[in-house]
Amino acid sequence: MTSARSGQPVTAPGEVPQGASLYPHLLAPLDLGHVSLRNRVLMGSMHTGLEERGDWDRVAAYYAERAAGGAGLIVTGGMAPNTEGAVFPGAAGLFSEDDIANHRKMTQAVHDAGGRIAMQILHAGRYAYGKDCVSSSQIKSPISPFVPRELDEAGIEKQISDFATAAERAREAGYDGVEVMGSEGYFINQFLALHVNRREDRWGGTYENRMRLPVEIMKRVRAAVGDDFIIIYRISLLDLVPDGQRWDEVLTLARAMEEAGASILNTGIGWHEARIPTIATSVPRAAFAWVTKKLMGQVGIPVITSNRINTPDVAEAVLAEGCADMVSMARPFLADAEFVKKAAEGRAEEIAPCIGCNQACLDHTFAGKISTCLVNPRACYETELNYALAAAPKSVAVVGAGPAGLMAALVAAQRGHEVVLFERDGQIGGQLNMARVIPGKEEFHGLVDWFETMVARAGITLRLNTEASAEMLEGFDEVIVATGVVPRDPQIPGQDGAHVLNYIDVLKRGAKTGRRVAVLGAGGIGFDVSEYLTHEGESPTLHVGEWRREWGVADPEDAPGGLVAPQPPAAAREVTLLQRKAERPGKRLGKTTGWIHRASLAARGVTMRGGVGYREITREGVVLDTDEGPQMLEADTVVLCTGQEPLRALADALQAKGRRVHVIGGADVAAELDAKRAIDQGARLAATL
Ligand code: NAP
Ligand code: SF4
Repeated sequence: MTSARSGQPVTAPGEVPQGASLYPHLLAPLDLGHVSLRNRVLMGSMHTGLEERGDWDRVAAYYAERAAGGAGLIVTGGMAPNTEGAVFPGAAGLFSEDDIANHRKMTQAVHDAGGRIAMQILHAGRYAYGKDCVSSSQIKSPISPFVPRELDEAGIEKQISDFATAAERAREAGYDGVEVMGSEGYFINQFLALHVNRREDRWGGTYENRMRLPVEIMKRVRAAVGDDFIIIYRISLLDLVPDGQRWDEVLTLARAMEEAGASILNTGIGWHEARIPTIATSVPRAAFAWVTKKLMGQVGIPVITSNRINTPDVAEAVLAEGCADMVSMARPFLADAEFVKKAAEGRAEEIAPCIGCNQACLDHTFAGKISTCLVNPRACYETELNYALAAAPKSVAVVGAGPAGLMAALVAAQRGHEVVLFERDGQIGGQLNMARVIPGKEEFHGLVDWFETMVARAGITLRLNTEASAEMLEGFDEVIVATGVVPRDPQIPGQDGAHVLNYIDVLKRGAKTGRRVAVLGAGGIGFDVSEYLTHEGESPTLHVGEWRREWGVADPEDAPGGLVAPQPPAAAREVTLLQRKAERPGKRLGKTTGWIHRASLAARGVTMRGGVGYREITREGVVLDTDEGPQMLEADTVVLCTGQEPLRALADALQAKGRRVHVIGGADVAAELDAKRAIDQGARLAATL
């Protein structure tokens, strides 16, 4: 089969019959009338930050790898239809002939790789980070400092017209379609829900009036692009904000959008300002597929589901259970461009898993940095970080099988080096093994499993239970020291008491704690330990029903927007989480996930206190220095989570002997260490050996 537009084959190199039998629903083509998609996998929209930097060859390389990896249809990051709708000043759009030429590089590269690509048209409305932002009503959002201008009739007409123009230009730029972003609380959603729309004219009030905007946009976009062009409408099925849409309204809209010309409906869940996590790692896998299922059979066009679908098995199950016609995955394609190809070839266990951490993708976006991926540092760096075969294979010793050492070993092996990986412990994974026991961080199991598979398949010699000495490392061409960290000694008087533990005792050795626990240190690990100690039984992340109760997610037929009062379970222990800095604990956690950790602990009754000193630990608890003088915090157990220091003994010993060594991960710098930096450093070093 060939693509009608590009004449290129539409069958991915990896699409082999074996995979089709493993994932019959996922790998089945989807007939859209004028065009057939090669499978049911949509690579969902993700902002990468590359488009704004003007390096379109790099953008093209990023998307082309995903097309070659088998994605059925790619949707770009959001492109503004006009400047007032841009997410931030200077955000990418399709405004000029130059823009069209740039986008054409991208569409051509995708077509050449056998894929198809649609451009998302994203109008941010009051979420736009700029003083010119516009909306249905003059109501500021809680996540932006700017008060939007309420559009008048002419202003609304301009926005509609700009959507149609953007779609027309997208077609000219070679796209196979567009996605009109109507969910997540953006511009169109701001007309649909009473949460923002307080208008009394023909664009507000009744639902018929409120949905006039998306219907008009869809009609005009369809008229602009003709029949043989894909138009996806991203419909908000659950607003998850007060005064959200009712289910009968959502259904009315879905049918109206089909009537107005949409080819596919994609699912959107939750406004950005919603206080319910929708994609974070603690959200159960496929947690919202049941909502999309409610739409199945209600419209005659294909329906796509999304959110926290990250393996071919989950995607296949969602389709097999009739929850949707197609599955959208965005972040999994950052983690592994070959997601579909590997699934189709029966190599699903080789797919680098998206663990839902947001650390290198969304957190980067919000910090104005280029998105990449914690498990795949090549994501968005396709033109500059490559693991080419080494001209001269070397013998490489890697000491420490934590994230830094594992990644260094894998990349070195992939490049043809002969790698021996030493690990003192009886298992690989290092600190990942502590992360994976935290309720809500179950995805880390998948990451350790993936490393295990890849180490085995890469032909790396793994020496577990082996503490490498300087002598053992004689004779290797290259030595990489990734020995990690040790807990920092906070030197608090009384810390030697039997009731004083550290995070390793609790998370790795399973040490028992009393009912009242003081956790000292409120970094990522202090938060993790507090989460761990307040849970009992199985994690809600593994039970969609329990998780929905905990966060207050209802059936939209029972509550507008699907929002009800949360019912968090009783905490297993009474935990106080402390830090010395006089700032809100958790302030430095991930931009897009810190609030979830804080909310989760608050719901479990954890007291979080900053601005205290630790005068002494006694049998009764911790004597705190506070502004009001010394205070006794009673606790049965005290857990030290007071940071970490590099473990450099081996590196120092080797260097003392005059050996050249590469030190990476926590052994290099422990401050602000996380798996993202460790993996990135390991990959980049090994790419140069
Ligand atoms: P961290 O983030 O550096 O936090 C260390 C904590 O100990 C801070 O709260 C610090 O606050 C306190 N502290 C530092 N020196 C101290 C001293 N001498 N005496 C008493 N308290 C002291 O380190 P971490 O929690 O060990 O985490 C290590 C790394 O793993 C972090 O970089 C983190 O990002 C990563 N991690 C991330 C997550 C996540 O959720 N994203 C989860 C786990 C781990 P004060 O100095 O104000 O008391
Ligand atoms: Fe997934 Fe984390 Fe990678 Fe983002 S950084 S794509 S959430 S693994």
